Amino acid sequence: MSLAVSGPTASAIAHGVRTGERRAVEVLEEHLARVSAHEGDIHAFNLVLTEQARAQAAAVDDAVAAGHDPGPLAGVPIALKDNLCTRGIPTTCSSKILEGWRPPYSATVVERMAAAGAVFVGKTNLDEFAMGSSTENSAFGPSHNPHDLTRVPGGSSGGSAAAVTAGFAALGVGSDTGGSIRQPAALCGVVGMKPTYGLVSRYGLIAFASSLDQIGPFAHTVEDAALLLEVMAGHDPLDSTSIPSPSPGLRASLGQGVKGLRVGIIEELSGEGIAADVARRTVFAAEALAAAGAKIDTVSVPATRFGLSAYYLIAPAECSSNLARYDGVRYGLRVTPEGNDTNIADMMAATRAAGFGPEVRRRIMLGTYALSAGYYDAYYGQAQRLRTLIIAQFASAYERFDVLLTPTAPTTAFAFGAKTADPMTMYLNDVCTIPSNLAGHPAISVPVGVGDDGLPVGAQILGPALSEALILRAARVIEQAL
Ligand code: GLN
Repeated sequence: MSLAVSGPTASAIAHGVRTGERRAVEVLEEHLARVSAHEGDIHAFNLVLTEQARAQAAAVDDAVAAGHDPGPLAGVPIALKDNLCTRGIPTTCSSKILEGWRPPYSATVVERMAAAGAVFVGKTNLDEFAMGSSTENSAFGPSHNPHDLTRVPGGSSGGSAAAVTAGFAALGVGSDTGGSIRQPAALCGVVGMKPTYGLVSRYGLIAFASSLDQIGPFAHTVEDAALLLEVMAGHDPLDSTSIPSPSPGLRASLGQGVKGLRVGIIEELSGEGIAADVARRTVFAAEALAAAGAKIDTVSVPATRFGLSAYYLIAPAECSSNLARYDGVRYGLRVTPEGNDTNIADMMAATRAAGFGPEVRRRIMLGTYALSAGYYDAYYGQAQRLRTLIIAQFASAYERFDVLLTPTAPTTAFAFGAKTADPMTMYLNDVCTIPSNLAGHPAISVPVGVGDDGLPVGAQILGPALSEALILRAARVIEQAL
């Protein structure tokens, strides 16, 4: 039995609430009723914010009654990945090491959504510290795919993807370091987008790999993804890597179509390693674009084949540095070895051993090794050179093409345990999504029907920096062809 729903859309909710046709509290209760009925099977949330959400929704209705416009997300129920700081509300990264920690501030995106009238349903499950592709690395147990409860929802933002898919929230927020928004969006059959690096403020996003991390939307429709991204994007002085421009208008040009658009199918990411049913659905996406007037050709971007190797050095290197702060002194968990409460180094070692799960420990060790004296250039330096090569090859591909097309993930949703024995098989999930993170470019996953097992497939559209409006337009054409 599938627990997936296809709406309601955020655009329709916000319109109804702003015009007084619908009340935000009713919209929220409908979503909370689905949470009560199905959260036990799906486990999308680490925490459901029932009372806070009711207060937010009531405040939105009060504003409308008083003649004020609550904003473009008026009364829209939103699910927040639990690596986004929420003031006074537990934020765990699905890790034991942060258990009990309450951030003293909220992420910029959380503030912006709240100011636009959003209602936060809860904090969603993820792979611990966003490291994984299935949510099986969560310290609190995995989330389940609403289309088939025996399958994973993808990851690391699997809880947000599942929450939107199951109708627990109209929109979801995730973070994408190597594919963590796009891959779960593909596996759950919803839209997911990673914006250009720097378009959305990372302030208050708990860092995994700072040169790759970006926050982005999950939605039922391309229009809804554009709506949420418009609210979240735009310069933030609290993030030094934030692009100093206002949020771009994205919805106005959504319907402009793709006539004359030059679309390149990346050869290296379309054949070997991609399941045949997934590859067929990517062809469907290309045909939909062609039927709408786009010009389709294949393009070789050979360095994308080395994306995985570069990523699995750069991301662990940055994580080993970012996660050094969890020392038992400043946040959450502290473990004092029995009979030894005077040696701080032993306390730190015991805290980190007890607080981090196996995948996080693996990444910290890999990263520490890659950065160590004598190996730094052979591993980290080499990975950075590959990253530069990928950026250069994308630049030449974008001289001949406006956007690029690939599958989002190599397969449909897989069964629990299918890829946990060997980390490499799990890492291979990210082969198509990682190149955009390394380049800092935007990419979107849009549903393109189902595979042989009846489970969702996503197609990925990639574009150069700040081409969000363009890739959203292309995604919209594919969405309408479906
Ligand atoms: N699956 C990838 C990893 O494990 C990407 C994770 C992410 O984007 N946060 O690192």
